[in-house]
Amino acid sequence: MAQLSRAARLILVGAPGVGKGTQADRLMKRYPQISQLSSGDLLRNNVRNRTPLGIQAENIIKTGGLVPDGTILRLILNELTTRGWLSPEDHVPPLVLNSSSSASSLPEADSYITPPFPAESRYSYSNSPSASFILDGFPRTAAQATQLDTLIPINLVVHLSTPAEIIMDRICNRWVHPPSGRVYNTTFNAPKVEGKDDITGEPLVRREDDSPEVWEARLQKFEETSQPLLDHYESQGVLWRVQGNSSDEISPKLFAEFDRRFTAVDATAVEL
Ligand code: AMP
Repeated sequence: MAQLSRAARLILVGAPGVGKGTQADRLMKRYPQISQLSSGDLLRNNVRNRTPLGIQAENIIKTGGLVPDGTILRLILNELTTRGWLSPEDHVPPLVLNSSSSASSLPEADSYITPPFPAESRYSYSNSPSASFILDGFPRTAAQATQLDTLIPINLVVHLSTPAEIIMDRICNRWVHPPSGRVYNTTFNAPKVEGKDDITGEPLVRREDDSPEVWEARLQKFEETSQPLLDHYESQGVLWRVQGNSSDEISPKLFAEFDRRFTAVDATAVEL
């Protein structure tokens, strides 16, 4: 475990299958002051709690569309202020996110899904190490990144990079045991008996999206949408790129850079 000396406000960007989740988990384990904020989870909580915003967003999420920027930004704003990491300096319209009232009882339900973002309001943010976070799923576009800048500056964007053929190989050799979530790889983590889970002996299956065609389509989409985001953060001077053929190769490099930027002591020996 390592102590941060200032707040780390982080975004991980990387192709599908590059191991963003793995790196996020490892960072949070090594630096317990970091929390993860996921726009998808925040939205799903609202859907589950039947808030006006959740009811409005439900269909968009189901059909794979993008929820309007103003809505996402308000969700993040609400989360950051609730945690005490962001405070309004002047009046901000109250947010109604946890109400259980139905959308029909609201005079203008639509205003919850596309509220005008109060760009004129000013916020101050905490630089305390405990106000450290990794954003997951947000910002997805350069427009969202620009809006986020008006609230709180991201101070490190990590572009995780692994050669496409290596990710492809990993995906094609991946088998899962859905009831337990155990994951095997026929190249470097093969099951004891081919096609069977080690513990239960039940059959292993491929994840639906683990096909080369599906992955290539996702990769192409990722490249189209991520480039403007990376350009945005490059121009802000906070982009850092790390390359490796596996998560284990990337983590030590990421930790070393993280220590250099966010801890007082420079770690020379970096362990996973
Ligand atoms: P995720 O869990 O990140 O895949 O998000 C699930 C769904 O929530 C997405 O398919 C979108 O409909 C919506 N969503 C999550 N994050 C955003 C965002 N930053 N901008 C717009 N829509 C989002």
